Amino acid sequence: MADIRTYRYFAGNTWHDPATGRWIDSENPATGEVWARVPDCGPEDVARAVAAARTAFRDGPWGRMQPAERGRALRRIGDVISAHADRLGAVELLDNGRLPNIAPGLKPGGWQVDSWHYYAGMCDKIEGRVIPAEVPDMHNYLKWQPYGVVALILPWNSPIGTLTWKLAPCLAAGNTVVIKPSEQASCSVLDLMEILAEADLPPGVVNVVTGFGAGTGEPLIDHPDVRMVSFTGGTGGGRTAAAVAARQVKPLVMELGGKSPQIVLPDADLHLAVNGVVAGIFPAGGQSCISGSRLLVHRSVIGEFTERLVDVASKARVGPPDDPASQIGPIANRPHYESILRRIAAAEAAGHRLLLDGRSAQRDRGYYIGPTIFADVPNRSELAQKEVFGPVVSTETWDDEAEVIRTANDTLYGLAAGIWSRDVTRAMRMADRIEAGTVYINNYFNAATQSPVGGWKQSGYGRENGWEGMKAFMQTKSVWLAT
Ligand code: NAD
Repeated sequence: MADIRTYRYFAGNTWHDPATGRWIDSENPATGEVWARVPDCGPEDVARAVAAARTAFRDGPWGRMQPAERGRALRRIGDVISAHADRLGAVELLDNGRLPNIAPGLKPGGWQVDSWHYYAGMCDKIEGRVIPAEVPDMHNYLKWQPYGVVALILPWNSPIGTLTWKLAPCLAAGNTVVIKPSEQASCSVLDLMEILAEADLPPGVVNVVTGFGAGTGEPLIDHPDVRMVSFTGGTGGGRTAAAVAARQVKPLVMELGGKSPQIVLPDADLHLAVNGVVAGIFPAGGQSCISGSRLLVHRSVIGEFTERLVDVASKARVGPPDDPASQIGPIANRPHYESILRRIAAAEAAGHRLLLDGRSAQRDRGYYIGPTIFADVPNRSELAQKEVFGPVVSTETWDDEAEVIRTANDTLYGLAAGIWSRDVTRAMRMADRIEAGTVYINNYFNAATQSPVGGWKQSGYGRENGWEGMKAFMQTKSVWLAT
C-alpha cells in the first residue's frame, strides 16, 4: 500500500476523510494496478459539501460579488490551470489511460483555458431586458439570476474536459457547485482542487465529493439545497438521475450517450471520409460520446471504402499512454474493458462479419483493444442500436437517400452525425433531416467554446458551450414596478 496515493474529498476549501470510512480503488488501466484510492462518500459527506456551497452562495462573498470581479476570478482559474497543465495530463494518463494529448488543451491558447477566459468575459455581460408589457403605469424588467448550489455530475471518459464545459459557465453565472466525478476516474478532478487554491477562491465555491452513482450521486441530486443539476453520462444513468431530480422538480441539463451515424455518399472523397471516420472514433478508443460508430455507406463504394478503412485502422498503434509511439491508449477501466469484449463476442455470435478484430491488441496486463470493424450489420441489431463506447464500428449499405435518412434516425439517440459528400447542397439538405444535436459535413469531431453542443432525443437536453451553455445555469426573474 505504501505507494498508493490516498485522496480525500474537498468541501469548504478543506480536505476530509469520508464519514463512511470507505474508499474506492483506482486502477491504472495501462497495467491494471491500483495506484490511488478515493473516498466513497455517503449522505453525511454530501451534506457537508452542500452546506459549504450554500454558505458560500448565500452568506459568502461569491453570491454578492460584482460580476466583473467574478470574471477576474475566472480568468485567474484559467491561468492557474494552464500553469499546471502537465500535472493534470499526467494524472489522467495514470488514472484513465489518456494519451498525454490532453495537456495542450490545458496550456495557454488551448481550448480549456480559452473556455475559462471566454466565460470570464461573459460575467459582466449578463444584461437584463426591459419588456414593453401592455399594462398601464408599470415598468417590467427581466433579470437572469443564478440557481444557487448546482450539482455537476461527470463521466469517466474525460473528467477535466467534461468538467470545464460545466464549471466555467456555472461559476460565471454566479452559482456555487458540488462536483461528483465518476467513481472510475476522480483523481484529476481532486488534483484540480489543489491547483485551484492558487486562484484564491472563497471557501465553498467549488466542492468535490467522490463515490458511486447510487450512494453519492443520488443523495447529492436529492439534497433540498441543490437547486439544479448538470449531468453527463450514459442514457441509463441519466434516466435514473432525472427520476431522482423529478421528486423536487429540479431543472437538469442532460448530456447523455450516442450511437452516431456517419453517412458516406457515392461521390464522397473516400480518402477524406476514411480518415475522418477513423479520427472520429478510434483515437480515444471509442470512448467519446460523439463517436461516429454507425457507418452507413452507399452500396456503390462499400467495397473500396471498407478496404481503405481496414487498411488505415489496422495501422493504428495501440499501446501504453506513456509510450510516444502509441496512437490509441488502453480502455479506461476494467469493467468497461470487459463490457466491450462481451459486446464484440455477442456481435460475432449474432453472425456479423468481423473485418478487423481489435482483440489482437490485448496484452498480458492492462486493458487494450484496437480498432474493431464489423460488416453487414443491420440497423435494428443490438450492435447498431446500443452504445458500445469502445473502438467498435459497424457498417451497413444503403441505396437511396430517403432510406438512409430513415436508418440514420432509427435510433433512440440523437447526439451527432456525419455526412461525407462532394455535393454540398445535397449534404446540407440531408443535414436538415437528421435528428441530432450536431451534424458534421466533410469533417467530424469539431467543437468550440463559442458553439453550443448537446443532444436530441435520448441523448439529452440543454446545451453546453456558448451563451446557451451559460444561460442554462441561470433562471429568469420578472420584476414589475408600479410607476
Ligand atoms: P454513467 O451514466 O455510468 O455515470 C456518469 C456519472 O453519473 C458518474 O459520475 C456516475 O457515478 C453518476 N451516476 C450514475 N447513476 C447515477 C444516479 N442514479 N444518480 C446520480 N448519479 C449517477 O456514465 P459513464 O459510464 O461514467 O460515462 C460514459 C457515458 O457518458 C457514455 O454513455 C457516454 O456517451 C456519455 N457521455 C456523454 C457526453 C455528452 O456530452 N453527451 C460526454 C461524455 C460522456
